[in-house]
Amino acid sequence: MTTLPTTGKILVTDFDGTLTQRDFYRIAQAVLVPPGTPDYWEGFITGRLTHFEAMQRIFWHIRADAETVLRAAETMGLDPDAGTATTALRAAGWGTVVASAGCAWYIDRLLAEVAMTATVYACPGVLDPARGLLMHLPDGPFRDPRIGVDKAAVVRAALAAGAEVAFAGDGRPDLAPALLVPPTRRFATHWLAEELTRLGQPFQRFTHWAEIAPRLLEA
Ligand SMILES: [Mg+2]
Repeated sequence: MTTLPTTGKILVTDFDGTLTQRDFYRIAQAVLVPPGTPDYWEGFITGRLTHFEAMQRIFWHIRADAETVLRAAETMGLDPDAGTATTALRAAGWGTVVASAGCAWYIDRLLAEVAMTATVYACPGVLDPARGLLMHLPDGPFRDPRIGVDKAAVVRAALAAGAEVAFAGDGRPDLAPALLVPPTRRFATHWLAEELTRLGQPFQRFTHWAEIAPRLLEA
């Protein structure tokens, strides 16, 4: 784990469903686990499992080699312009931090494919084709036993460092951190956009992650 960027402006962003169109766990459920694997996501939705437990159990059931898992991860639809957008942000003083409840195993590899440099807080994992993607809780100040990475704590740390902070996300673990930043720098898509609408909280809607950079640079 590295430390937060020392830039005066920090974009904290989720990965699955935010930098990508689809979540890795859904692709894993569809193509990487054997038929008959229990629906652990349903276990999370009904409150029987934590978010981390659901992700960990789905990934344990993966039976595939590294190349097959990476090819599957590539179908998440990572924004091909993410590297260029991050470079433009950095030129304007914005550091980018990926804060994810997913696994660094696929995040690091996919970011490298689009030459995106960012600080990454995610759950570490090791792939064993016979035993699955073995994901564990991270060490460090942003560890959250229920979710893996406490994204709100990442945002609070950036704010406490005196940075201007923006946040981008799509899912349930993104609601608390999104509400910590001003609406002009609160970017949402999918479930998070619907939930913020339901709560009457203003935000910036986006479809592709790279759209965020020019909007932050204009603001
Ligand atoms: Mg997400």
